[in-house]
Amino acid sequence: MNIVVVGGGIAGSTVSKLLVKHNNVTLIQDKKWDKPCGGGTKTRIFKEFNLDPFYIKEKLSSIEMKYKQSSINLDLLGENLSIVFRKEFDEYLRENAKEHGVHLIYDKVINIKNNKVITKKNQIIPFDILIAADGVYSTVRKIINLPEIPKVLTYYARINKQIKKPLFYFDKSLGSDFYAWEFPHHNQTHIGSKFNSFNNFKKYLNINIKNKGYYIPMWQPNITIQKDNIYFVGDSAGQVMPLSFEGIYFAMMSSKILAYSIEHNLNYKKEWDKRFLNQFKFMKFLEKNMQNNFLRNLIMFSFKSKIIQKLSVKIWLIKTKI
Ligand SMILES: Cc1cc2nc3c(=O)[nH]c(=O)nc-3n(C[C@H](O)[C@H](O)[C@H](O)COP(=O)(O)OP(=O)(O)OC[C@H]3O[C@@H](n4cnc5c(N)ncnc54)[C@H](O)[C@@H]3O)c2cc1C
Repeated sequence: MNIVVVGGGIAGSTVSKLLVKHNNVTLIQDKKWDKPCGGGTKTRIFKEFNLDPFYIKEKLSSIEMKYKQSSINLDLLGENLSIVFRKEFDEYLRENAKEHGVHLIYDKVINIKNNKVITKKNQIIPFDILIAADGVYSTVRKIINLPEIPKVLTYYARINKQIKKPLFYFDKSLGSDFYAWEFPHHNQTHIGSKFNSFNNFKKYLNINIKNKGYYIPMWQPNITIQKDNIYFVGDSAGQVMPLSFEGIYFAMMSSKILAYSIEHNLNYKKEWDKRFLNQFKFMKFLEKNMQNNFLRNLIMFSFKSKIIQKLSVKIWLIKTKI
């Protein structure tokens, strides 16, 4: 089969590599860019997806959670969290897919007609299957008239400061409905928060830097992830974990489910739901409860328990079924 994949970020590169053994796969990426991202992901993706550990830039064994006057040091039960630099990691994933036989093109998809994609440089590429891995703004969704992905605006910046472990701030004044974060990136720190609390967060950190905004999907159970022979994966399918906003791992795992579904002629949505629906619903439920001050206090208070800490780390980083 001729498979065309639009978008060579995490999801597009992963699904291309997984499908190329039995198909002709063309991967189209518009530009070499540094996706705004904390770059924090489960260390085990490197083994699970057979990736070069050179691209792990930091290995972390703890994080700090701050709320009101208290601070909790969460032991990650080993170096189970890693930081990747998106510019080099995404490029590595694309080159890795190419080494496995994927035809990689740098160009922008601007239209789709009669099972052909049309690019900015006027290339016309036919497909039997089209995979849209083109991120939260998905051009493919727009072209085929699907509703946009529900999303939230986050602000993000890189500052010249060194920290040893990621910090998460749960006070509403700093992180609004969700949380504000600082992630170590070598001799820099990446910081972020929801758009309406970022200025407070900057004040709190005593920095003055220009905000950069970027959207992050807000997953819903009813997002369309397939229409006829067009499939969506990663941010273009809204597959980001509610509350934690972890997208790298889920883009890769969803790519695996999609590749398996195509190869075995299975229903992609059913396969995805079988694997992740309960987890995503549970996190959506927690996300809703975190909006309520009383429940936020309760949830944060429960994190003082070593048992809750251990269980959460196991579910988050070690085994994923709940
Ligand atoms: C501020 C911020 C911080 C984040 N921090 C984390 C974190 O620490 N950990 C984590 O797990 N997740 C994090 N995420 C989420 C994570 O970045 C995404 O979920 C992840 O990048 C999804 O990968 P993707 O391949 O689906 O989409 P993307 O990474 O967005 O890749 C889509 C690609 O498609 C290309 N493209 C788009 N349109 C076209 C077109 N028409 N033609 C050709 N190419 C096209 C784009 O250039 C892009 O490279 C963060 C997100 C944000 C916004």
